[in-house]
Amino acid sequence: MVKFNNNISVIGTGYVGLVSGACLSEFGMNVICIDKDSDKIEKLNNGEIPIYEPGLYDIVKKNVDAERLSFSMDFKYAVENSEVIFIAVGTPPLEDGSADLQYVLAAAEEIAEHMNGYKVIVDKSTVPVGTARKVRDKVEAVLKKRGVKYDFDIVSNPEFLREGAAVNDFTHPDRVVLGVETKKAEDIMKQIYNVLYLISVPFVVTNLETAEMIKYASNAFLAVKISFINEIANICDLAGADVHHVAKAMGHDGRIGPKFLHAGPGYGGSCFPKDTKALSYIAKEYGGKCEIVDAIIKVNDRQKEKMVEKVRDKLENINSKKIALLGLAFKPETDDLRESPALYIGKRLLEEGAEVSVYDPIAMENCKSLYPELDFNYCENEYETCKEADILILATEWNQFRSLNLNKIKEIMNKRIFLDVRNVYEPEQMNKFGFDYEGVGRR
Ligand code: NAD
Repeated sequence: MVKFNNNISVIGTGYVGLVSGACLSEFGMNVICIDKDSDKIEKLNNGEIPIYEPGLYDIVKKNVDAERLSFSMDFKYAVENSEVIFIAVGTPPLEDGSADLQYVLAAAEEIAEHMNGYKVIVDKSTVPVGTARKVRDKVEAVLKKRGVKYDFDIVSNPEFLREGAAVNDFTHPDRVVLGVETKKAEDIMKQIYNVLYLISVPFVVTNLETAEMIKYASNAFLAVKISFINEIANICDLAGADVHHVAKAMGHDGRIGPKFLHAGPGYGGSCFPKDTKALSYIAKEYGGKCEIVDAIIKVNDRQKEKMVEKVRDKLENINSKKIALLGLAFKPETDDLRESPALYIGKRLLEEGAEVSVYDPIAMENCKSLYPELDFNYCENEYETCKEADILILATEWNQFRSLNLNKIKEIMNKRIFLDVRNVYEPEQMNKFGFDYEGVGRR
């Protein structure tokens, strides 16, 4: 077994980097989390967590107190004192759908600038097939410019955590994927993840390109499931069938499985939209096609707009109508607004001249600071949002929206129209209750 000193760094302290760094310190590693965003590092050094992620505060605090976890902007110190350096920076989409690799390559450059011996450089960001080679080329070019020679290995270790359940996903993953080129790098990575090995988490050890492809294939497949059930839901709407029962019965088939068969307003978040577009781009780049993925990208865009059409059908004219929007985050238990269907619906309704009152338990501050141009009326709670509304849209299924005081809402709304794009409530009960209720593919 190769000797490894347990010292690692994680570059990029966002949703993935911070969770990975904190959980790796929980696994017994000594971790330095690096970011170029001084606000983030300052907050973390003051004991604040810059994102909303359940369970993260406790694990960060515990490991900072144990002096296994620290936060810094000092690349030099971090690289010089770490044998393994994870890259967990963003890979946002460019105009043409391809992944923007500038942050990954900038991180690779910083690592190479400060290398002082053998390092394992681990791509944890979601990156197109071939990126590990580009990282290698970048590091080699910088070392050459510096006139130094150091041995290093590149590893592809894609991350599958879900925001809102990230700590549990990282510490109890379905699998660990390692794309490696040398036995030494494989040994070191297995030592880092030894805790997972001991609880029988499956390890898939493969080459760099395959590991990179596994991440895109996995995300695209989940996105296919979502878009598929959304299409079925739309047909159910037309045909008078109930997608809830369709999905339930489908899910009982062991070959299909029940997960990701929940009809709604389309997928959002920082991963599925960008990763499906990137996969389509990768296919073209290699002279191929990924027609299924091309189709679901279209289906998903259309699904979000379909929710706005549902509002139009209910109100006839959206202009000047009072709309109550419950939820802004792309899903519950996160403050992440990236590609959020709820936010899309809210924006479109504003564009059509509606007065939109919103409430989200966590994501409103992010929305105010990221989209100051959006003229939402931010409310204190669900009930203030619904006051005199012509329609209520349940757009993110936060738990507290699952048990709304419907009597109260009925009294304070102008019209009793309830558009449940997350299919939280039962149509029959809601109709009995006196709401003009509509879900997605429900009956
Ligand atoms: P994020 O935007 O939350 O965080 C990225 C961080 O990297 C930011 O804090 C940014 O300041 C920092 N950064 C950028 N360039 C840097 C540099 N050169 N040096 C130091 N810091 C730098 O992004 P994220 O959501 O954590 O995603 C990171 C990667 O992980 C992406 O490739 C994403 O696709 C992938 N991923 C994300 C999720 C998720 O649920 N968010 C899940 C799995 C994989």
